[in-house]
Amino acid sequence: MGRRQADNTSSFAERLLAWHQLHGRHDLPWQQPRDAYRVWVSEIMLQQTRVETVRDYFKRFTARFPDVATLAAAPLDDVLACWSGLGYYARARNLHAAARRIVDEFNGRLPNDTDALNGLPGIGRSTAAAIIAQAFDRRAVILDGNVKRVLARHAAVEGWPGRPAVERALWHEAERRTPRHSAAAYTQAIMDLGAAVCKPRGPECAACPVAADCLARQRGRQHEIPQARPARTLPERDARFLVLRDRRGRVLLERRPPAGIWGGLWCLPELSGGAEVPIGRTLPPPNPIRHVFSHFALNMTFDHRRGNRTPPAVAEDSARWLTTEQALELGLPRPIRTILATLPGRKTRDR
Ligand code: SF4
Repeated sequence: MGRRQADNTSSFAERLLAWHQLHGRHDLPWQQPRDAYRVWVSEIMLQQTRVETVRDYFKRFTARFPDVATLAAAPLDDVLACWSGLGYYARARNLHAAARRIVDEFNGRLPNDTDALNGLPGIGRSTAAAIIAQAFDRRAVILDGNVKRVLARHAAVEGWPGRPAVERALWHEAERRTPRHSAAAYTQAIMDLGAAVCKPRGPECAACPVAADCLARQRGRQHEIPQARPARTLPERDARFLVLRDRRGRVLLERRPPAGIWGGLWCLPELSGGAEVPIGRTLPPPNPIRHVFSHFALNMTFDHRRGNRTPPAVAEDSARWLTTEQALELGLPRPIRTILATLPGRKTRDR
């Protein structure tokens, strides 16, 4: 068994590398040029977003912030504005905070050290390894969502990968398959295999370079592994927002506190409970929106008013009256962007 395992271990990487040369992605924006900063930004964006969506955001972001020093020196508002629409804004806040630490503690260069990277805001064990492997071409073991799926199937690891015992088993499988050489190519190859062949639904086993010894395939279980997250009911929350517009059509926005949902983003003022808004003339409200976060669903309703005074509940120093065009330039939560872009009476261009 030990001998056979060793053979499979080496051939897994070799088959994957050969496949990647022919079929892998070699034209991703962060591959050309490839440096530690660009790999880092791409890895953070890819944590919760698909490659197709990340491409354009990545190009815009790195055009605006081409290196660690520029990102560290930028106001957080600019970083959030550039991230606007990608969601999971903690990623942008962490990128910014980590850039400042890299300038202060590492002379502005990403450390070529997994533990040092792992200690920076927003960088976990797998992301640190992905940076080391791809930017510095040194052996480091990754286990992102795509890799978990490939390995869970190839080794027939049962159970939901979010469970610590299952995750430990997957780290073990990742460790024993990662070769000593070709770190950058192997890392890209296994991520590409997960994205293009061993897909969440409908894995294309006939086109897979490691199909011969894939246990899930041998057992006909590739559609059941990895096990889905156990069902849970998402808690529902309600929130009411004020769309207050003055005679010139400007809208009142308020910056959210740094912690909590949409931390640091600009938003319509949130009204507490069923409180009456003692200001302005009522206008037809925009339609309600249900916005789903990872851990709850937010049912958003809107109170649309015409009025010129900032309500007492809104702190003057965190509020601004803006035209919708000015507002759309800011870092905004996606549903707020939708509301502002479709407000009736908006005279000017869409972005
Ligand atoms: Fe995934 Fe199928 Fe390849 Fe197994 S054979 S790793 S299930 S694509």
